[in-house]
Amino acid sequence: MASISLSNIHKFYPNGYAAVRDVSLDIKDGEFMILLGPSGCGKSTTLRMIAGLETISKGDLHIGGARMNDIDPADRDVAIVFQNYALYPHMTVIDNLSFGLRLRGVGRSIIDQRVANIADMLGIGELLSRKPAQLSGGQRQRVALGRALVREPKAFLLDEPLSNLDAKLRSAMRTELIKLHRTLGTTIVHVTHDQVEAMTMGERICIMKDGVIVQVGAPMEVYRNP
Ligand code: ADP
Ligand code: ADP
Repeated sequence: MASISLSNIHKFYPNGYAAVRDVSLDIKDGEFMILLGPSGCGKSTTLRMIAGLETISKGDLHIGGARMNDIDPADRDVAIVFQNYALYPHMTVIDNLSFGLRLRGVGRSIIDQRVANIADMLGIGELLSRKPAQLSGGQRQRVALGRALVREPKAFLLDEPLSNLDAKLRSAMRTELIKLHRTLGTTIVHVTHDQVEAMTMGERICIMKDGVIVQVGAPMEVYRNP
């Protein structure tokens, strides 16, 4: 687990566009934080800067108290899950889940144990020998979550992970994610443009508009003072 602290963060894309401007936000250790706002407001850019997939133009990022601005994505100990799953299509589910740990040199028995635990938790234990093409959207999303979870990251970054699912699955996965957070206690930053998702899932909601933060608060505070 780790706190995530953004201090006066800016992102200027190479074309000069200021996608994120002077964003400051303190996410507590173990907190479930939502980044909410319309398409194009800078949520993804903010998340990608936390993950190290975009450079920070100005400002400071700390994770677990350590300055992260110039630290490699692989060394940040955070995992990111995208809406398009990004599974390896030629690998089975079990290989998708274990690949990252094998790359890091984690031992076989630890990998097997972690993969079994996570697969059980996510209800994908029966799917381990399938390939992504043989899975439904919801099953793929579970595998994508599982692949991030097996790394046991300090923080979990979710970029619209439910938006490609149909309404019923989306609702089921909302509940799953809340349960997962309760079980693991990991810091989560969850990006969405869906107000219902934000209100039902987050401990706090950070609302962005046109690259800036306009409000931060618990769901009821944000709901009462729109
Ligand atoms: P959101 O996740 O809220 O939909 P993004 O962070 O993806 O928003 O994008 C914020 C703004 O930055 C948008 O206007 C988008 O078009 C712009 N943007 C994103 N990526 C780039 C890029 N590589 N170059 C220039 N502008 C970009
Ligand atoms: P998202 O689903 O996060 O909103 P998009 O579909 O807007 O992502 O963007 C997909 C990719 O295109 C991202 O890598 C983003 O950085 C890039 N991109 C988005 N807007 C622009 C832009 N105006 N100029 C250049 N690249 C962009």
